[in-house]
Amino acid sequence: MRAVVIGAGLAGLTAAADLTTAGVQTTVLEARDRVGGRTHGIEVAPGAWADAGAAYLGDRHTQLHKLMAGLGLTATPTTMGGRSRFALRDGEDTRAGRFPPLNAVALGELFDLLHDLTAKVRSDAPWRTPDAAALDAVTAEQWAEVNLRHPDARLFFPLFLGEMMAADPARVSVLHMATYLRSGGGLRYLNAFEGGAQQDRVLGGAHRIAERLAEQLGARIRLNRPVRAIHQDGGRVSVHTDSGRTYQVDVVVVAVPPLLAQSIDYHPGLPAPRATAATGRGCAVKVQLVYRTPYWREQGLSGWSVSATGPLLSTVDDSPPGGRAGVLTGFVTGAEAYRFAALDPATREAEVLHQVSELFPRLPRPTAVHVNDWVNEPYSKGCYAALFGPGDWLRLGPHLSTPYGRVHWAGTETSTEFFGLMEGAVRSGHRVATEILSGYETAGGTP
Ligand SMILES: Cc1cc2nc3c(=O)[nH]c(=O)nc-3n(C[C@H](O)[C@H](O)[C@H](O)COP(=O)(O)OP(=O)(O)OC[C@H]3O[C@@H](n4cnc5c(N)ncnc54)[C@H](O)[C@@H]3O)c2cc1C
Repeated sequence: MRAVVIGAGLAGLTAAADLTTAGVQTTVLEARDRVGGRTHGIEVAPGAWADAGAAYLGDRHTQLHKLMAGLGLTATPTTMGGRSRFALRDGEDTRAGRFPPLNAVALGELFDLLHDLTAKVRSDAPWRTPDAAALDAVTAEQWAEVNLRHPDARLFFPLFLGEMMAADPARVSVLHMATYLRSGGGLRYLNAFEGGAQQDRVLGGAHRIAERLAEQLGARIRLNRPVRAIHQDGGRVSVHTDSGRTYQVDVVVVAVPPLLAQSIDYHPGLPAPRATAATGRGCAVKVQLVYRTPYWREQGLSGWSVSATGPLLSTVDDSPPGGRAGVLTGFVTGAEAYRFAALDPATREAEVLHQVSELFPRLPRPTAVHVNDWVNEPYSKGCYAALFGPGDWLRLGPHLSTPYGRVHWAGTETSTEFFGLMEGAVRSGHRVATEILSGYETAGGTP
C-alpha cells in the first residue's frame, strides 16, 4: 500500500511512523522548510533552546511521554519557585503563589461555573452533550456578560481563557470553551504547573520530538511541498502540490489544522466542511526575552506575572536548564494578540520592553527579543489550536475524524482527547494509522 501524509507536525509524523513500521510505503508532504509545525525551537545560547511554540506537558500526556521515551527524549520540570508579579488594577503587586490579588470569592465562583459547564460536556462526542445546541449558539463573551457579576471575575475571565486556550471569548462558543477544558483534563489540571499540564518541558525543546521522528523517516519526508488539491478517482487518490508535483497513492492522511484543511481543493467536493466562517485562528503571539542568566530568581521572583493591560498578559520562566541563559517567555493572547500582531516589529519590541521594565524593574536589558506571531503564520493560521465559533461543534464535530473515501484525518483538532495539545496530536496520529491499517486489512489488502 502507498500513502501520502500531508503535514509534518506531531500528528502527521506519528501517523507516518506507524504506517512505515507496518510496511506501508509512506511519503510525508510538508509545506514549510522544517518539520514540527506548531512546535518550534529557537537557540537562545549555543546549544540551549527555548520553545517558540508548544512547550508544556504533564503526567496525563501518556502517549507523548511514550513517544519521547522511544526517541530517547526526557522531560525537565518547569521552574516555578519565588514570588509572582501582578498588574491587574492600578500599579503592580508582588505576592507568593499564582493566585491573583483579586476577590477570591468572585474568582472561586467563576471557577465553579466553569467547572459545572465542563462537567456537562460529553467528552467523546461534544456535539451530543445535553443542551449542545444552546451551548454552541452563544459565545463565551455573551455567557460572561450574563453569568459574571463581580468586576474581578469579568476582568480575570478573558485573561484566563487567553492563557488556557489562546482564545478571545468573543470568538468561541461556550461549547468549545467547555470542550477544550474538559478534553485537556479539566480546569485544575490544565491550569496547574506541579501535578498539572504545565509540569514539564521537553529537555532540549519540544521541536526535538519532530526532529527525531523525521530522522527515522529520512527521505520519506519532502519539505517545501504545500498541497493544494486532492483528487479521488476509483480506487486511487492523487495529491497535487503547489509546485505542480502529483503523487498517486492508495490512501491519504490530511494532518493539518482545520482552516488549512478547508483551503485544500477536493475532487469530488467534501461532504462536510473542515472549518466554517465562524472558525477562528487561535490567538497567541509568544515572546522570548533572553538574558545572560535568570536574574529575577536572584530577586526572589519566579518570572511568573499576570497583567490586564498587555501586551504580555502573562510571563513565565522558560530558562533552559544548566544556567546557559535566562529566558522570560511572554504570552500575548486573546483579543490583544490580534492588536499586537498587527504592529510593526519595532513597535512590538518597544511595547514589550516598556512593559517588562515596569513588571521587573531591576532586570537589565535583554540580549535578544524573539517574537513569534502564530496568528499570521500561513501554515498554522493561529495557535494553540483552531477556535470553534458558534455552531462549529454541531456542524464540524461529527465529521472531524470520519474518513472521506480514501482520505483520512489527523491533527490535534481531530482528537476529542487533549484537543489542541501535543498529546491530542500524537493520539490522532496513532488513531489514524490504526484506522487505515485495520480498514485495509479487513478489505483483504496488505499494507
Ligand atoms: C505558541 C504555542 C504554544 C503552545 N503551547 C502548548 C503547550 O504548552 N503544550 C501543548 O501540548 N501544546 C501546545 N501548543 C499546541 C501544540 O503545538 C499543537 O497542539 C500541536 O503541535 C499540533 O500538532 P499537529 O500535528 O496537529 O499540527 P501542526 O503542528 O500544525 O502540523 C501541521 C503541519 O502541516 C503543515 N501544513 C499545513 N498546511 C499544509 C499544506 N497545505 N500542505 C502541506 N503541509 C501543510 C504545517 O506546516 C505543519 O507542519 C502550543 C502551540 C503554540 C503555537
